[in-house]
Amino acid sequence: MSVSCNQPGLMSIDVAKAQISQLVSTVMETEQLQLQKALGRVLAEDIHSTINVPSYNNSAMDGYAFRLQDIIDLHKLALVGKSFAGSPYLKHLGKGECVRIMTGAAMPDGADTVMMQENAIAENDQVSFTDIPKKGNDVRLVGENIRKNSLVATKGKKLTASDIGLLSSLGCDLARVYRKLKVAIFSTGDELMHAGEDYQAHKIYDGNLPAIKALLTKMQCEIIDFGIVPDDKQQLRNILQQADSQADCVITSGGVSVGEADFIKEILAELGQIYFWKIAIKPGKPLAFGRLPNSVFFGLPGNPVSAFVTFNLIAADGLKQMAGEQVEINLVIPAISIGQLKKHPGRVDYQRGRCYNNGSGQLVVETTGAQGSGVFSSFASSNCYIVLEKDRGNVQQGETVQIQLFDATLT
Ligand code: AMP
Ligand code: MG
Repeated sequence: MSVSCNQPGLMSIDVAKAQISQLVSTVMETEQLQLQKALGRVLAEDIHSTINVPSYNNSAMDGYAFRLQDIIDLHKLALVGKSFAGSPYLKHLGKGECVRIMTGAAMPDGADTVMMQENAIAENDQVSFTDIPKKGNDVRLVGENIRKNSLVATKGKKLTASDIGLLSSLGCDLARVYRKLKVAIFSTGDELMHAGEDYQAHKIYDGNLPAIKALLTKMQCEIIDFGIVPDDKQQLRNILQQADSQADCVITSGGVSVGEADFIKEILAELGQIYFWKIAIKPGKPLAFGRLPNSVFFGLPGNPVSAFVTFNLIAADGLKQMAGEQVEINLVIPAISIGQLKKHPGRVDYQRGRCYNNGSGQLVVETTGAQGSGVFSSFASSNCYIVLEKDRGNVQQGETVQIQLFDATLT
């Protein structure tokens, strides 16, 4: 697929993502970690089970283990011993014999069936049952959950708590993962100051750097923070070069529009290669993407909500691919809008909403207020994007809309 610079008109989010995907590559280096320290890291190898699970035939119930044919022939069995989890009955089970068995305990050699104790009548070491079970009843067989040598975790999987449980239960305590992605970041703008500083007239507090850093932290990136850089070509050039020499990816916010102080595009064209896109989504039209000599570059818009949304919906997938993660397609599901939603045809809207079950089994969604791209407040109580199609106009109460639940970095 070719990438056209300065493409007239607007580019769809899918085309932008596909082009990014073609132009980024996964880091080469990997490291071996204790599994306990690998939560959220991306597997750099396939993992196969070295054991069967269960590794021996065992009982699924507290009850009695015996040979089914014996109970059919004899009706009563002689109780000859016990098998507890960790303390098996080690003798071969003779004809007409049974053993008391607990959940998880090994099946004695010769036994093929378990009957739970609620269906057993035990008197003077003689045991009978209220009915005859099927052969193999309540027996968990070797390898029935996981076969030895079968694939249990795939390269590219971001390790979750359950993966760590699964792999540990297979005796695995080390995992080879991709190294962390190094991401350099800064905000641009003469008007910006850091939170915590005394307020100065005609300035604004930088919300983008802390927000994007928080998202990068959740994505397990190693962050190289260059702070706020003024709208000064020389300083921007210097910082971009420093950032490029240290990072796999450089992310900036602001300075990618067409204003007189928007220098990012020009400097990037000089130092590397830049694709400047107007993405057909709201919020978030301008997005710059490109390459510096050593790194990949994302120039996010300055408006806080636009920066946040374009990072989350577009740049994050590129970073995941660089970090070795299998990128999943976002799940979009229908919900009923419980109010009116304002929408102009022309771009896909990613409005912020709150979805919930209305108590009658219906998934409904409501807006979380003003959708302007200047403030984060619409995110505060939201749990999903309301994705309104490009050509759609206003939405009336009761209409079905598509929603995209927030991913793990946003919650
Ligand atoms: P720009 O793309 O630099 O023209 O910025 C677009 C708008 O976003 C302007 O109103 C900027 O003041 C504002 N803006 C830019 N960067 C930030 C930031 N880091 N935090 C908050 N607002 C910003
Ligand atoms: Mg600016």
